[in-house]
Amino acid sequence: MSSKLLTQETVPPAVLEVIKGLQAGGFRAFLVGGCVRDMLREQPPKDFDVASSALPADVQRLFKKVIPTGIEHGTVTVVLRGLHVEVTTFRAEADYVDGRRPSKVEFHDDIEADLGRRDFTMNAIAWDPITGQKVDPFGGEADLHRQVVRCVRDALERFSEDGLRPLRAVRFATVLDFTLDPGTEAAIPKTLTVFRKVAAERVHQEFVKLLVAPSATRGLTLLASTGLLGEFLPEASLAELDAVGRAPRDEVIRMALLLLGQTQPREVMMRLKFPNKLAEDTAALVLRASLPPPSATDAELRRWLSKLEAARAAALLALHEARGSLPAGLRARVEAILASNPPLTTRQLALDGKALMAALGTGPSPAIGHATRHLLELVLEAPERNTPEGLLTALKAWTPPA
Ligand code: ATP
Ligand code: MG
Repeated sequence: MSSKLLTQETVPPAVLEVIKGLQAGGFRAFLVGGCVRDMLREQPPKDFDVASSALPADVQRLFKKVIPTGIEHGTVTVVLRGLHVEVTTFRAEADYVDGRRPSKVEFHDDIEADLGRRDFTMNAIAWDPITGQKVDPFGGEADLHRQVVRCVRDALERFSEDGLRPLRAVRFATVLDFTLDPGTEAAIPKTLTVFRKVAAERVHQEFVKLLVAPSATRGLTLLASTGLLGEFLPEASLAELDAVGRAPRDEVIRMALLLLGQTQPREVMMRLKFPNKLAEDTAALVLRASLPPPSATDAELRRWLSKLEAARAAALLALHEARGSLPAGLRARVEAILASNPPLTTRQLALDGKALMAALGTGPSPAIGHATRHLLELVLEAPERNTPEGLLTALKAWTPPA
């Protein structure tokens, strides 16, 4: 088996230079992990990670510019011709055990031990781009060709060491469109208590990659059937899984689908460690998910847009389109209304707060708030009245609430 991309030409010159430098210094050095996997899959790698028998201090000695990125875990970053190349010393342990950092990391002189601590066989292949030597002790290349995600060594043991791995297994199966090896899949329900201890930030990182994948429906179904989904997102609406896969590859729209019907969507999003802005956008879609009836007038559509916020309309239409609940013709009507740029917020009123105060002869007061809302109601009904004169006329006819 050979891959067209597993050649020196795929590797940036600066990365080759780092590997040559390490080898000239008397150390072993390989490309490992995601980049080797991606080259074997004929996909251009995102980044090139180097594993080496050199200790961080050796690397710092060999190269001019070295950043001590994660020196206690054996990782330093060599900066060469503007490129950042991570070099990690061979070691026999992962960063995390049971969701916590291990007390010590053992460095080894042995690439096979380093590959043995990695999660999946396809991620446990090393390749020396200078000699072309490939180190694949766990049959990773064969699994890649079979399109199977399989744990390195015993799945139960590996999942018990680090509870994030089951979620990574489902994430890789989803993103790469692979299946799970039966032993690997069977170990997931048995190690859920370990998964429960994993930090929410780590879960978030993996979950988002799965969520926006083209095959998200399959991934979410796998999360549900293995019990993972129930552990971190029991609120997810299983009825919407098909819609998620049809929706745009967007975190907000897809999360809103999963959280439809929830009364506290923002809290769920925060618990899952989504950034504030995404939590808010998602919550707004969930809480304002209902559409105006087909019989709605243009004024009713404008009132609905004003409450929803016009900027969220496209996402809400896409959400309903994905679930097949978008009435025919609604999209065109909404788009026509938005294209005419009617006033939908108080900031778009032709009289600002200062002008209102002058017209009413008061300073800042509750009356200003009442007047503003009254005028917005008026222009939502009749956008053409949104001129300074039109609003002044309307104000004269208006009696503030007692
Ligand atoms: P991606 O393309 O999604 O970044 P990747 O394989 O590069 O995929 P990373 O999370 O960047 O994934 O990790 C780099 C490598 O480190 C993996 O290929 C794997 O060998 C190893 N690894 C990462 N996380 C774990 C873990 N939790 N347990 C064991 N090995 C891991
Ligand atoms: Mg990576």
